[in-house]
Amino acid sequence: MDKYVIHGGTFVPAHGIFNEDYKGPEGVCPYCHSMNFYLEPDGKATCCLCGTEGVIKNVDGKYVFEFDAEKWIPHAHDSISGKFIHGDDIMRNEAEARELMATDEAKARKQKYRDFIQPTTP
Ligand SMILES: [Zn+2]
Repeated sequence: MDKYVIHGGTFVPAHGIFNEDYKGPEGVCPYCHSMNFYLEPDGKATCCLCGTEGVIKNVDGKYVFEFDAEKWIPHAHDSISGKFIHGDDIMRNEAEARELMATDEAKARKQKYRDFIQPTTP
């Protein structure tokens, strides 16, 4: 498995780019060492830092994050392939949001808010 770089608690994307070495404390995600996860009712857990999806298990009183490395590491936000996937996701989602804001319904809703919200003076 690749190693990681953390400077002052900030995640530094470096997989495969530099001769990186992980310096921070070990976390729950074995890939990026994050301890922040988005947990869904169906049991799916998504690492908030690298975007890897898997499940959280409690093994001998400790949380363990298990995921399909072959499937998810190419999607991780700090890998080169993952950066392109993440960038494409952002581009597609922003394009969809712009299209929605250009509809007559969205424009009418925006005008309703503008008419309702009035500036105040101190
Ligand atoms: Zn992670």
